[in-house]
Amino acid sequence: MARLEIQLVPDSCWCSNLRSILSKKEWDIVRHDAYARAGGKCGICSRSVSRLEAHEKWEYDEDTHTQRLVDVVALCHSCHSVVHIGRTSLVGDIDKAEKWYMKVNECSYADYRKDLARATEEHIRRNQIDEWNLDISYLVDLISDAIASGRLDATKYVNKGDK
Ligand SMILES: [Zn+2]
Repeated sequence: MARLEIQLVPDSCWCSNLRSILSKKEWDIVRHDAYARAGGKCGICSRSVSRLEAHEKWEYDEDTHTQRLVDVVALCHSCHSVVHIGRTSLVGDIDKAEKWYMKVNECSYADYRKDLARATEEHIRRNQIDEWNLDISYLVDLISDAIASGRLDATKYVNKGDK
């Protein structure tokens, strides 16, 4: 079982989620690939659930100001609401998310607060960077596989001036 960790996306990255970058068809390919790899199980708590949610995992290089997509993983709703606890505290059930964090990580409320403090500190530090470069090279293989198998229309990706 993977550790359930809180991740706060820097404010300047809010618009840079994959759904807003990709077409619906491309996003469907990316998330269905994550679901297929998951085999019906949450990537963190390993529970078999009928409905999985695709979670984008980003790494942040604070020296080069680069936000890099490293994976898209399928998570259950409970784990996903903990990972995005910032959003959950605004629109979701925070008590439930806190309890779920402690259960999955088999830890105390103090441990939870410690991880939240770590994530918050990281968030404040990363917010001092105004603009992030986006590295989504992770998607290249996935999208080209999809083109090769005919799931995506290749003509859209061919540079028209290039002969
Ligand atoms: Zn889970």
